[in-house]
Amino acid sequence: MESWWQLGEGSGQWYTEFKPSEVTCPFCLERGNFGIVSHFEKKKPNDEKKKLNFDTYKCGNCSGFVMVLWSAGDRLHDFRVLPWPLKLSKAPEEFPADVGRYWMQAHRSLSEENWDAAAVMARSSLQIALRSFKAEGKNLKEEIDSVADSGLLPPIMKDWSHNVRELGNDSAHPEPGQAPTDPNDANDIVQFMDYLLEYLYTLPTRISKYQKRREPK
Ligand SMILES: [Zn+2]
Repeated sequence: MESWWQLGEGSGQWYTEFKPSEVTCPFCLERGNFGIVSHFEKKKPNDEKKKLNFDTYKCGNCSGFVMVLWSAGDRLHDFRVLPWPLKLSKAPEEFPADVGRYWMQAHRSLSEENWDAAAVMARSSLQIALRSFKAEGKNLKEEIDSVADSGLLPPIMKDWSHNVRELGNDSAHPEPGQAPTDPNDANDIVQFMDYLLEYLYTLPTRISKYQKRREPK
């Protein structure tokens, strides 16, 4: 986005109204329990239809406040919230529920500095994602190769997947006296997982939203 006037134009959420149910309270993590406190608008100087909405909401659970800037286009709206929850409360909507569960636990393990757990969770998240794409094989190595051979993963993503697998393997199949997972490795493996899931789920979702937007009204 190059200008705030592009908010809600071309990408965002369906429908042209912002709903507080889309926001999680950054303080108590309750979702969508908000009452509006103030609302201001600014219209685009050369386009009366386009406006930016400046709302303040109060959480009905903990009485914290959030500021929401939102705007709508023809079919979509988009928004930015300040402040945002520092603890992850929800996986991206386009992830299947089981993948998202492991994804979230991998990130939470990182933030709590549980490096072994982060590596195992990232590895499991990768495995369950590949299985949702009909991976075949008797171990994760073969499953990665089978999905890559089907053409779904380009070579660089195949290499990444094997990196995640190798980094997570030690923690998933520990030996007595095993050294703890290196924090840098744990951070890398979770980042690799993020790239992969973005490629497998987020990118196709964004492309399909783009195609729907291009359909005649
Ligand atoms: Zn709250």
